[in-house]
Amino acid sequence: MDTSNDARREVARQLNHYAYNELEGGSLLKTLKAVTGATSWRGCLTELAMLIKPNECHMYYDRKLDSYMCTHCGESLEFISYGVSRHVDKDYRFCPSCGAEVVRDGE
Ligand SMILES: [Zn+2]
Repeated sequence: MDTSNDARREVARQLNHYAYNELEGGSLLKTLKAVTGATSWRGCLTELAMLIKPNECHMYYDRKLDSYMCTHCGESLEFISYGVSRHVDKDYRFCPSCGAEVVRDGE
């Protein structure tokens, strides 16, 4: 499933629409299937859980590029930080490129 911010906004927009209008066939399940594209109630819950959960990533040091990289989007932080020390880059709480939450070992 696409968990980009645009995809999250679109699902939220549709849920808000149904909150103030008729449900698909008068059924919450049919509505959630229409919004998420899932075919079962378990699928609907799984899709919604994926959208609610923040994207997570790890930052790792790439020796070839001499830069820290995001495991979620693959961006090099060196190109994003424009002169900021790369020793500071590894302490980001969120990837400045994709916004994924940086998870450190043991978290
Ligand atoms: Zn990223």
